[in-house]
Formats: sequence, C-alpha cells, structure tokens
Amino acid sequence: MTTPPFEQGPIRPPSEAHSLLVRVIRNCTWNRCTFCPVYKGTRSSLRQVEDVLGDVDAMAEAAKVLRSRGVHAVRAGLVPPEAYQVSLFLGDGARTCFLQDADPCAVKPEKLAQVIRRVRERFPTVERVTTYGRASTLARRAPEDLALLHEAGLTRVHLGLESGADEVLMAIDKGCTSGDLVGAGTKVLEAGLELCFYLMPGLGGRAAAAAHVAGSARVIREVAPAAPAGTPLVVRLRTAAVVPGTPLDARAAAGGFELPDDEEVARELRDLLEQVGDARFELRSDHILNLLQELDGSLPRDRERLIALLDEYLGWPRDDQARFAIGVRLGIFRRLEDYGDAGRRRALERQFEGYEQPAADELLRTAAALRSRFI
Ligand code: SF4
Repeated sequence: MTTPPFEQGPIRPPSEAHSLLVRVIRNCTWNRCTFCPVYKGTRSSLRQVEDVLGDVDAMAEAAKVLRSRGVHAVRAGLVPPEAYQVSLFLGDGARTCFLQDADPCAVKPEKLAQVIRRVRERFPTVERVTTYGRASTLARRAPEDLALLHEAGLTRVHLGLESGADEVLMAIDKGCTSGDLVGAGTKVLEAGLELCFYLMPGLGGRAAAAAHVAGSARVIREVAPAAPAGTPLVVRLRTAAVVPGTPLDARAAAGGFELPDDEEVARELRDLLEQVGDARFELRSDHILNLLQELDGSLPRDRERLIALLDEYLGWPRDDQARFAIGVRLGIFRRLEDYGDAGRRRALERQFEGYEQPAADELLRTAAALRSRFI
C-alpha cells in the first residue's frame, strides 16, 4: 500500500536541494517580473492550511517507510513518487525544510506559523526552516508577525533583491521599490531571522548598469547593519539572463534591453564591491549563471581579494576573456586558474574544431546568451 500523496512545487534554491519541500501556496501571486519564466502561464492559488498540514503528515508517513526500506520504497511504489525528495532529505540527515512556492509569506502569519510548528513536531531533527518571500509582502508585515514566524521555528528568508535601483525595479516590473527592499530586509533581520538576498548583476542592461550597481550597493549598505553579529546578511549572485518567451526577451528583441556580456558584468561586480563600503555581509556565487563561481567571501574582510580576482579577469586579453566565458558555460572551467590547465584548454579548443575561429565579441555574446540554459 502506498502512503498518501502530497504536493510539491517546481523550484527551490540550490542551497535547499536536500530539504523537505512543503508547498504552502501554489505558484506566484505576482508573476509579472519580466525576466522570470518560472510560473508564466500558471495561476496562483492559496492552499487550505489543513491541506498543507496534511501534506506534512503525509511526508512524515513516507519518511517512516523510507527509513525502514530505503529509497527502494519509491521504486516499489510503497510511497508516492514525490517522496523521492523526502529520501534526499533523510539522506542528508533530515536537517532542513523549505516552504514553497514563490511567496509563502503572503499566507496569514498565524497560518504559516501553524505549518512551521507542524514541520517541527513531525520532524524534530530539522534545524533550519526557510522560505521565499517577496519584498512588497514582507514590507507590509508588522514586526510582531515576523517575530511570530521566528518563534514558530522559521529561520531564514530568501528574498529576490534583483536590483536596488528604482528605475530597474520599475523596468522589470518587480512590484516593489528600493524602499520596500530596505524595509523588508531590515524587518526580517530585526525579527531574528536570517536573510538571503538574490542579486542579479546585468539586470539593468547596458543602459542602466551604473544605476543598478549604485542602487544595489545602497540597499546592501542600508540593510546589512540590521544583521546580528553571528548571522550576517547573505547576498547570492544570479547573473541576469534573457530567457526566450519572457517579457524581457520581447523587450530585448524590440531594442529596449541589451544584456551585458561577462566582461561588463565583471566590471559591475567590481564597482559593486567598491560601493558597498564597509557593509558586513557574505557574498556567494553558487550558480553556473555566474562567470566567477569563486567570487565568494566575507565582506568587508575579503573585499581586496575579490576585487583582485575580478581585476585578474578584466586584465586578460579579450579573446581569453571570451574563451573562458564560453568554457564556464560549457562546464569546462570553474575557476580562473582552470584556464591555465592544458587538458581543459584542449577540451575547449575541441569545441571549435572544424569552425572558423569566432571573434571575441561574438563569443562573449554567445556566452551571455547561453546563461538562459541554466534557468
Ligand atoms: S521573480 Fe519571483 S516574484 Fe517575480 S514573477 Fe518570478 S517567482 Fe514571481
């Protein structure tokens, strides 16, 4: 006999790959950000809290079977197919839970707190419960609402900063202002929750690159001081991509948006590191969308080291910059030092065999276009 089925949403951050996934709300209540393909063509709907609590119970039942029979229980049909994620969670020590989909914080805080408490009851080994949250939702929440979620056992909020510049936020139809981002981020941290911002270098396009950097650096500078000493703000980089079929793609096709290439994005990041001043935060570059996945450190301590990395790349001949960018997107290079590895270089050159050698600018354009493959 199979244990009861439960719902599972389509995405979670890479850091939640082994988390228990609890679908609190379906799809995205906003669904208008021009760069985002994830929920386009779907409708958002709230779920009854009883159904979500039932899902947590169903996952607990599946976990019992998986603990005794292992992942074989999925193949044998003793648990529903979606319980494969529960087996990943158990295999990782049953330590983390992620609330889905795009904005569970839109659910009334008392109801969301009920769900979090149920997760904690059914899975007492869980150390971390995290959720996505939209800035416009969180900025409207009272401090007591966020304190309630923290008391119930929520530990971290993932928030799409994308850009701190109002002109960019308006152009991408983010539905919030830089003031909302500062207000939401500050409230989250002051409630004792951890905060992870997702920043999209390149999202201002070539025309608004300077404003994008200046606004984003300002939001980081204003929010970071609200973080307690032991749990600094985290900023994760997700380089902008133009995904076919999105409104941003249509804007680019009409000439209203030019996607910066990887050399231009590296310059943006260098400017950002200069402009964040002494803000204390953790920078993470944990996605293949990013050219330099080694751009990872604790600010302000590591600022000079990170700037030196960017300067090293920016100092290369343009042809090498372009070949490295292509190699990253093909999975051949991960770090700058990989470019000096003869075996990896041969693997890259094999990609060009039989073709006329493309110009550096064309390769950089291709590498930027390839980003959309990784969304
Ligand atoms: S980026 Fe987030 S808020 Fe915007 S449409 Fe996509 S899921 Fe919704």
